[in-house]
Amino acid sequence: MANKIDRVPVREQDPKVRATNFNEVCYGYNAAEATLEASRCLNCKVPRCVAACPVNIQIPQFISAVAAEDFEGAMDIISKDSSLAAICGRVCPQETQCEGSCILGVKGQPVAIGKLERFVADYTQSKKKECSCKEKKATDNQSDNKIKVAVVGSGPAGLACAYDLANMGYAVTIFESLHTPGGVLTYGIPEFRLPKKDVVEKEIGKLVDMGIKIETDVLVGRTVTIDQLLDKEGFKAVFVGSGAGLPMFLGVEGENLNGVFSANEYLTRSNLMRAFEKGSTTPIFIGERVCVVGGGNVAMDAARTALRCGSKVTVVYRRGEQELPARREEIHHAMEEGIEFEFLTNPTEVIGDENGWVKSIKCVRMELGEPDESGRRRPEPIQGSEFEIETDAVIVALGTKINTLIASTTPGLETDRKGRIVTNETASSRPGVFAGGDVVTGAATVILAMGEGRHAAAQIDKYIKGL
Ligand code: FAD
Ligand code: SF4
Repeated sequence: MANKIDRVPVREQDPKVRATNFNEVCYGYNAAEATLEASRCLNCKVPRCVAACPVNIQIPQFISAVAAEDFEGAMDIISKDSSLAAICGRVCPQETQCEGSCILGVKGQPVAIGKLERFVADYTQSKKKECSCKEKKATDNQSDNKIKVAVVGSGPAGLACAYDLANMGYAVTIFESLHTPGGVLTYGIPEFRLPKKDVVEKEIGKLVDMGIKIETDVLVGRTVTIDQLLDKEGFKAVFVGSGAGLPMFLGVEGENLNGVFSANEYLTRSNLMRAFEKGSTTPIFIGERVCVVGGGNVAMDAARTALRCGSKVTVVYRRGEQELPARREEIHHAMEEGIEFEFLTNPTEVIGDENGWVKSIKCVRMELGEPDESGRRRPEPIQGSEFEIETDAVIVALGTKINTLIASTTPGLETDRKGRIVTNETASSRPGVFAGGDVVTGAATVILAMGEGRHAAAQIDKYIKGL
């Protein structure tokens, strides 16, 4: 299958310039570029991209609307299935989802579905007028005769669940332990990939405008328990979307030295507490040389943040370049910006100086053996290949696991050996309690968490109606 027009390239900040600032890397399409790119879509009779999108956005329809310059119409089509289009258009792993299934990609370049989705969301947001009936709608949505549903966590799973429940007419309250809502969208993914004020806050603002209440600084399991929400506070059901926010560590000698951080802490300082901005009261350690251990999105985000803070950064990853689990676009951007990679390398010890600060990491070279349970080839150490990398800081980005606070304070809530809440069609073992997102699947993606939140909203509606 061929198309006469090449994929329209997207404009980006120059790599040398952007390596020194936190502004968004990608500028996105303008209307002319979006319309041209949309004209490449073949409007397949059986669109494989729709099936490959975890929330089944009607992709050919919205793209046809873009091609016809009906951008508001395109937004209406997307909004039927997604409440966070500006975010998903920016951070979804499109290359393995919708775009990965686009028929044009078989012999050439797939349609830039994510960039088009982002354009439509940004365009319609920029045209939006302030809603004068905001307060009325908010009061209506929380009025006494509405059935109350609680959502724990304001990441993509919780936000998507709340959006659908509010649209069904429920009075929804989100309880969030941090002082700012958004989950990983706010504290994890950096400003240069996902601007907070212009994108995340505006997307969440749309939900608040619908009347969804967000109570921050409420740690469910401590401030209030799920039993109290159900039995005393009058909520008919609870959705748990508390994510998988506990960092994992290397488990090697020297990991407690000064200058070793979890990527989670490092990124939270930078993104949530704005430590990178002049005048911020939150400090961030800026080593001359920084090693980031890991190869996923979190590792790329930590590495690119450290680079922008002024460090020379090396990513240390135990498998090869082909096996890097981060999004292709992020790896490409990291390499363009001058981040160095030590592939097939595994740290075995963190070495400190006489004052207890990191001075180097001891590593061993690896080779890939037979596939392991994940299907990827298992990295195995090469005997006698040990060497040291000098560094002032180590950022550990090996993935995250589930905090068991909610499970341990909710009698009857079943979890598996990794602490994930066990569900059947999003319903947990505790009647009235539903769950979805990373707390059920383990660390995954924004769109999968959103999809689970939407699914749970439908299940909660059935449960409340006794169906
Ligand atoms: P979260 O986003 O983790 O939200 C959970 C929320 O619950 C948090 O706000 C937390 O504070 C709150 N909470 C937890 N416990 C409690 C409690 N007891 N009481 C009240 N509130 C509580 N995915 C992509 O698709 N593309 C990417 O490019 C990408 N990059 C990433 C980069 C980083 C640095 C990280 C960490 C993840 C990235 N991911 C990416 C993964 C993606 O962000 C997650 O899969 C997704 O956010 C999970 O959504 P969630 O709603 O389940 O949980
Ligand atoms: Fe593709 Fe994500 Fe948009 Fe679905 S939501 S069409 S997966 S970019």
